[in-house]
Amino acid sequence: MIGPGDPDYEQARRVWNAIADRRPALIVRPSSVDDVIAAIRFAREQQLVVAVRGGGHSVAGFSTCDGGMVLDMSRMREVTVDPVRRTARAQGGAHLSQLDKAAQAHGLVCPVGVIGHTGVAGLTLGGGMGRLQRKHGLTVDNLLAVDLVTAEGEKIRASEEENPDLFWGLRGAGANFGVATSFEFRLHPLEGTVFVGMVAFPIDRSLEIALRVREFVGTHDDVHVAVYFTRSEELGGQPIFAVGAMHTGSADIAGRDLRVFRESSPLLDTFASRRYLDVQVMNDEASGWGKRFYTKAGFFPELTDELVDRCAGLVDTIPPGAELSLWAHGGAVGRVSDDAMAYTGRTAAFNIGAELAWEDPADDEARIAWGRAAIGALKAFMGTGTYVNDVVEADTNGAQIYGKAKYERLVRLKRQYDPDNFFRLNQNIKP
Ligand SMILES: Cc1cc2nc3c(=O)[nH]c(=O)nc-3n(C[C@H](O)[C@H](O)[C@H](O)COP(=O)(O)OP(=O)(O)OC[C@H]3O[C@@H](n4cnc5c(N)ncnc54)[C@H](O)[C@@H]3O)c2cc1C
Repeated sequence: MIGPGDPDYEQARRVWNAIADRRPALIVRPSSVDDVIAAIRFAREQQLVVAVRGGGHSVAGFSTCDGGMVLDMSRMREVTVDPVRRTARAQGGAHLSQLDKAAQAHGLVCPVGVIGHTGVAGLTLGGGMGRLQRKHGLTVDNLLAVDLVTAEGEKIRASEEENPDLFWGLRGAGANFGVATSFEFRLHPLEGTVFVGMVAFPIDRSLEIALRVREFVGTHDDVHVAVYFTRSEELGGQPIFAVGAMHTGSADIAGRDLRVFRESSPLLDTFASRRYLDVQVMNDEASGWGKRFYTKAGFFPELTDELVDRCAGLVDTIPPGAELSLWAHGGAVGRVSDDAMAYTGRTAAFNIGAELAWEDPADDEARIAWGRAAIGALKAFMGTGTYVNDVVEADTNGAQIYGKAKYERLVRLKRQYDPDNFFRLNQNIKP
């Protein structure tokens, strides 16, 4: 336990987003499920609000609080792999890089996000998008079971067989129902090397290249594709339209498939064969702790010309350190029914995030205002749902994230498992 008088307190209270600068009364670091239970029971007795922390990446700052208890899972990071059953078990404080390393030691992989120091817990409980989503699905699509400590301090397991209703809700609204002490995942074979990179074009070629992106996404449904509208530092601040991809086929096949972009006279081309484990941490430093960050997201049913044009226009005013990033859904993501779990947005063609990073607190207002206005200008193109892990605004309601019917089902679950709303530092389902 660490309190405000302790020498470690200033370090221990930090979370990834520097905007979330809060002062909890107590930081507890359990090292076992029994410790988690003791902490939950203590917090209930003392009527302390509890912020559960996995990797600390919540952009909204949900894994810290003023005056309450932070339940910091960082001492529970073990990952074990069963190579015969092709499963992994990760404790509730593990980072993605630990799961990646443990699985790749056996030539296996679980589809997770793109930054190694993100927490397995928060990412999975919200959905889990990443470079393998079109090939193997979202992280939640590969989740087999969760061990949880409830608001009453009881152990409970959720899977398709045990408490299937809770399992449905955990996969997309999971931070609402308890402390996940471990997760079990299905793994897939992956040779250690992938073909990955990005090509950048002048922004006035956006429409021409977007047409190829649409064709490519439709014909290569297991290749990760993302497009970016931003200004390139490497190109002296020039507005660009970039196409990123990760292909798990051999370098020959990947090179042939991606020729359509690479042979279109890009300004930059970073494609190369790289070790998957290196790819998974290649942006870790650039996305390190301590910056200020804002994001706002939405799902697009289609990547229309009008939408591309609108995004390109937004780059005229884009602040430094910001981008509009659109990741292709489809493939394995689209093959799961949208009703299968709480996660909503599978039928979308692309998920957009307006992402802004900066350092000076004096820039907070202008940066956040730009992000809000950018997504506001694209609202007309958006479909149902919002990716819960990208929801920062306190006034976003559950129906906007999950759609009305799913939200109502989640409210019923919340009433059953956490009627007092003990777990409320999350995109909250109010009981
Ligand atoms: C740099 C960066 C990169 C990202 N990249 C991706 C990406 O590639 N793909 C993607 O899908 N998302 C991505 N995200 C979003 C990310 O998935 C969410 O921010 C996620 O909530 C982070 O999980 P965490 O455990 O690190 O965060 P935390 O801040 O620790 O927690 C996030 C939420 O989950 C709850 N929680 C944490 N641990 C537990 C637990 N053990 N049991 C119950 N509840 C818990 C918290 O209470 C909080 O509400 C990224 C975010 C950042 C900042």
